[in-house]
Amino acid sequence: MVRSAGRKAGFETLAIHAGQEPEVTTGAVVVPIFQTSTFAQVAVGKNKGFEYGRTGNPTRTALETCLASLEGARWALAFASGMAASDAVAHLLEEGDHVVMGDDVYGGTYRLFARVFDRAGISLTAVDMRRPAAVRRAIRRKTKLMWIETPSNPLLKVLDVAALAEIAHRARALAIADNTFASPYLQQPLKLGVDLVLHSTTKYLGGHSDVVGGALAGNDPLLRTRLAFIQNAAGGVPGPFDAWLVLRGTKTLAVRMERHAANAQAIAEWLAGNPKVTRVNYPGLRTHPQHELAKRQMRLFGGMLSFELRGGEAAARRMAARTRIFALGESLGGVESLIEVPLAMTHGSVRGTKLAPPAGLVRLSVGIETIADLIADLAQAIG
Ligand SMILES: *Cc1c(COP(=O)(O)O)cnc(C)c1O
Repeated sequence: MVRSAGRKAGFETLAIHAGQEPEVTTGAVVVPIFQTSTFAQVAVGKNKGFEYGRTGNPTRTALETCLASLEGARWALAFASGMAASDAVAHLLEEGDHVVMGDDVYGGTYRLFARVFDRAGISLTAVDMRRPAAVRRAIRRKTKLMWIETPSNPLLKVLDVAALAEIAHRARALAIADNTFASPYLQQPLKLGVDLVLHSTTKYLGGHSDVVGGALAGNDPLLRTRLAFIQNAAGGVPGPFDAWLVLRGTKTLAVRMERHAANAQAIAEWLAGNPKVTRVNYPGLRTHPQHELAKRQMRLFGGMLSFELRGGEAAARRMAARTRIFALGESLGGVESLIEVPLAMTHGSVRGTKLAPPAGLVRLSVGIETIADLIADLAQAIG
């Protein structure tokens, strides 16, 4: 554990130092990219902690140590993508098991359970998790997993993590929080009672739109053993360079999140005052239905927001094609601003289902560019 002058180190210090002591043979300050598939053994059955690159790699270990410290977790495991991490969690389940999840979770998460693990005999109920009574009603005898995503994508609903974890535990189900939108700088779900935290490190942790990755973090050592077994057995691991890119991004997470959140707040307020905008979803607005909950649960309100335009889908598509600084693209959490129309892009897989977002919804991943430039760009695109 990183300590500074006898006290437990703060978030920013951990992000830069946890798992990242200078390298022992050369003193390199930055963790090297151990670009190797195998490790020479000292003797048969005796090694220096690493054998084969799927099972473990020192660059990956550094990332896992760092991520665990940022989530306040005892352990973390790094994966090739957020979905590879979700897939490992799904593999904890057995035929006949049941999952309860939010009704606007990441589209790929819904697709994984509804269209891949359905064939393994795992069933799913999607509910509006803002309503605890609805969550309790959705629980069955075989409910083994509760999937919490907050703030949610793309509607920015905020869920009461502590209350939901308690409902899951009463039903003897595991509670997992997808913490991708908030990042550990804004919210630490393990401290609110969940058993597992999931990240698409592709987003804020990596932070520069140059790598795809995922992670799980938790405290229970048995859960770690089972998930590490699944990870090694199924093989969804990140390469050393990808692990290094995420680790590099993570060092600046705190300062980036401060600016993402400040820019998003300014844009949300500007949009809320624009007559062409009918609705703005951002937890930092006092009009957001869970603003008080978000204040209790999160340090800041994040860099993601969505809104609806007068004129519906046609207006949304027109605006998304006209921005110049905001790039039209999927993904989120990078330093550069992105705009998209969820139903036509990230959430295409739920079109026609009750999980489909409003057709005229526009989603922004607000970057860390100059705020006046971002607002001017949105103003000219709205027209
Ligand atoms: C992107 C994303 C995922 C999936 O992660 P990948 O790295 O794209 O596999 C899961 N959850 C949320 C909230 C995401 O935004």
